Amino acid sequence: MPATLPERLRADCSACVALCCVIPPFDAVQGFGFDKPAETACHHLCADHRCGIHAELVERGFAGCVAFDCLGAGQRLTALALARFGSTDWRARPEVARWLFAAYPRVRQLQEWLARLSLAATVTGDAGLEALAQALETEAPRWPDWPAAELAEWEHRVAAALAPLARQ
Ligand code: SF4
Ligand code: SF4
Repeated sequence: MPATLPERLRADCSACVALCCVIPPFDAVQGFGFDKPAETACHHLCADHRCGIHAELVERGFAGCVAFDCLGAGQRLTALALARFGSTDWRARPEVARWLFAAYPRVRQLQEWLARLSLAATVTGDAGLEALAQALETEAPRWPDWPAAELAEWEHRVAAALAPLARQ
């Protein structure tokens, strides 16, 4: 049976405020229907953070939205914003929007590292990989505040831990 990601490393859109429909830019040629600049809400996004064309995404040219998975970054960051600001209302609270928009690419990247470590630990049974994943997860509330040097140090640790698998 192929290794699968644990629940916390899969998108839970019901616990998110549609961050991927706002923050990243997207292109029509990549299956997103039209060209959208970064940090701008998709014009199909409804006020309740739901997609107005969810039932017909593929037919309307948005297959990219169906395929996209933030690996849990959306609900993670939404929860962190709620803890920090007591609000996730990026439409009405400019400071919340600024913080979410700045943190999203980093949290997305870190969830990807977590996913790689988690899958590698499952496939190999390597307790060291699992311990590193848990250490990285424990740091999650601080991810948005990490200085660049700390991010770079973790990037190095993750790459070094996964390097032996790439050689197999
Ligand atoms: S950012 Fe992730 S959790 Fe949020 S709506 Fe997009 S895919 Fe779903
Ligand atoms: S089409 Fe729907 S799922 Fe895709 S970005 Fe727009 S609101 Fe989000």
